[in-house]
Amino acid sequence: MLSDLGAETVEVRTPADLEGCDGLILPGGESTTQLQFLREEGLDKAIRKFAADNRPIFGTCAGAILLASDVKNPKQDSLGLLDMTVLRNGYGRQVHSDVVTGKTTLHDEPLEMVFIRAPIFERIGKGIEVLAEFADKPALVQKGNVMAAAFHPELTTDTTVHRRFLEMAKASGRSNGVGSRSSSAKVNFKLAKTKRKR
Ligand code: GLN
Repeated sequence: MLSDLGAETVEVRTPADLEGCDGLILPGGESTTQLQFLREEGLDKAIRKFAADNRPIFGTCAGAILLASDVKNPKQDSLGLLDMTVLRNGYGRQVHSDVVTGKTTLHDEPLEMVFIRAPIFERIGKGIEVLAEFADKPALVQKGNVMAAAFHPELTTDTTVHRRFLEMAKASGRSNGVGSRSSSAKVNFKLAKTKRKR
């Protein structure tokens, strides 16, 4: 989806891969495994620095869990870049791997959302903006350069959320023209467990 929108993407496996990137996406998967991988590679520190430098970060599902300051069910450490409490697998079977729609501030029509063993955003801290909701709970939130979705926006055909993230990357300063094929801007995609080095 990102390359269709004109962004160049690279996979991030080490802190060096992160250099020169305008944005970072922490994808879905299994947050416990991902956290272990980030620590093994020293990427946890690199990502905190990336955030502190005001580079945009977008976490989807497990990625959102990694961003949350407080993780429950079970309790788990995280990068703690967004002041919110998340309940892992909180939607349970209710919307297990289902496509649903919810209210969004990003466009007039409801937003399609795919939840896969998704976390509930149980509490969000002051100053965090709710961009979309499902079942009266925040499902897409943002504060400054950090955005988190409980669902998987890459699994629908609606590019709204990714376009917003690319705009964030563009606005963050270093890039000139994310969204155009000639751009040198990079948005990292996929920091997945499959990228672990043996
Ligand atoms: N349930 C997973 C976790 O707790 C997240 C699922 C997902 O990313 N789709 O880490």
